[in-house]
Amino acid sequence: MDLLAEGSTLSSVSRGTGVARATLREWASTGGTYRARAHECPRGDGIDDHAYAHLLGVYLGDGCLSPHPRGVYALRIACDARYPRLIDECADSMRRLLPNSVSLTPAPGCFQVTAYSKHWPCLFPQHGPGRKHERRIALDPWQVAIVEQQPGRFLRGLFHSDGCRVTNWTEKMVAGELKRYEYPRYFFSNYSGDVLQLCEWALDLLGIEHRRANGRNVSVARRASVALLDEHVGPKR
Ligand SMILES: [Zn+2]
Repeated sequence: MDLLAEGSTLSSVSRGTGVARATLREWASTGGTYRARAHECPRGDGIDDHAYAHLLGVYLGDGCLSPHPRGVYALRIACDARYPRLIDECADSMRRLLPNSVSLTPAPGCFQVTAYSKHWPCLFPQHGPGRKHERRIALDPWQVAIVEQQPGRFLRGLFHSDGCRVTNWTEKMVAGELKRYEYPRYFFSNYSGDVLQLCEWALDLLGIEHRRANGRNVSVARRASVALLDEHVGPKR
């Protein structure tokens, strides 16, 4: 857009950037990449798997889609205000999927990360009336394929929204010295049995051992499994 504004021709910008002339013409007529692309369905031409798997996890954990006039939906994710990097990461994944503007609205203890688009229901067909844990949550085959490619990103989204990494510790006398031993472990908590099963499935994809602590919690406690999950999730920051 800058090159065009400086007077370069469509052909020379096309040659220099590799962007098709027709695309450049459309961008020029609509006022820029972002506005033009905002009307396109991201399902149409391959989506960013890395961003999608992450945002799907976040959405299933803590996200909410709500309808607005003229077929527009708001995707709202409540992010704990104590973890600014997670807020950035969530906003970044949203931007990579749909280049609409992402807003951060402060609320007590958290920030609402919000973006509006007609295409959120295309990306999250799990949207429906009622609360997530009161309806069936099953992934479409194309979503399953993406999570199979990026299980770590999906788990990152899930654990950073509805999970936690806690460190229990104990002290033991070893050769006359009091030593402190730490036991990090992960918990994922959700009211939806379907979402818990998706979490377990993704853990299985990475060979991470887990167990149901109770009806609402999945825990990862074996040292080697915690270390594996640390590669993808890690503490909230
Ligand atoms: Zn769409």
